[in-house]
Amino acid sequence: MRVTVDRDRCAGSGMCALTAPEVFEQDGEGLGTAPDPSSWAEHAEAAAEAAGLCPVGAITVSTGH
Ligand code: SF4
Repeated sequence: MRVTVDRDRCAGSGMCALTAPEVFEQDGEGLGTAPDPSSWAEHAEAAAEAAGLCPVGAITVSTGH
């Protein structure tokens, strides 16, 4: 699976890092990021929840490779 954050869309709300801190963090600019691919599969459910809660729809969680 794959977790991506559209940095052009991200509004820096921090919701993703609050919802799924295992997967997301805010970078130095306050934008959401999913820096560790090894965490994605284990926390897929939380990542999907965060994607649904992102106020600007910047998070994409896709299954497969
Ligand atoms: S929830 Fe969405 S808008 Fe907020 S920091 Fe994460 S990616 Fe950005």
